[in-house]
Amino acid sequence: MSRRRVISDPMRFARDEQVARGRTALAELPRLADLLAEPDGEIEWSLQGVYGIDRRPMLRLSMRAEPVLRCQRCLNAMRHVLERVSLLRLVRPGTPIGDEELEIDEFDTVEVGPDLDVIALIEDELVLALPIAPRHEQCEPPQPAGGSQKKSPFDVLANLRGSGRLQ
Ligand SMILES: [Zn+2]
Repeated sequence: MSRRRVISDPMRFARDEQVARGRTALAELPRLADLLAEPDGEIEWSLQGVYGIDRRPMLRLSMRAEPVLRCQRCLNAMRHVLERVSLLRLVRPGTPIGDEELEIDEFDTVEVGPDLDVIALIEDELVLALPIAPRHEQCEPPQPAGGSQKKSPFDVLANLRGSGRLQ
């Protein structure tokens, strides 16, 4: 089930402080496919128009998803919990952006035309928000082929000594 979500006149959407929300299957986001270990899951999102004190149209994008990524150390699947709220300032295409604005981390600037493809925007933001090299907090690299997992007799002896059972 593929649903294209388009906001007509996103500047007005922002100025009127409208809200759109939905859920989208991660499998519907093609640029995410290479990053996922499993194509399951969905992203829950909401877009809220913000017309702040500086009278600049913005969108507040909230995303929540638990994509299954591939750990870059053990190469097994890992569930990554992502919750993120970002503020996107809307500008017309070709609007010059001052250097000082590029350095502001509080919001990103997004060029919008007459229509805003919501799913493409969410895909952009989600790809940026995912870790470049996801890793479990604790895991081991895969054992080389043919490697033995058994403890050597010397390790066993050392453990016995350490526990005081062998004088
Ligand atoms: Zn791992």
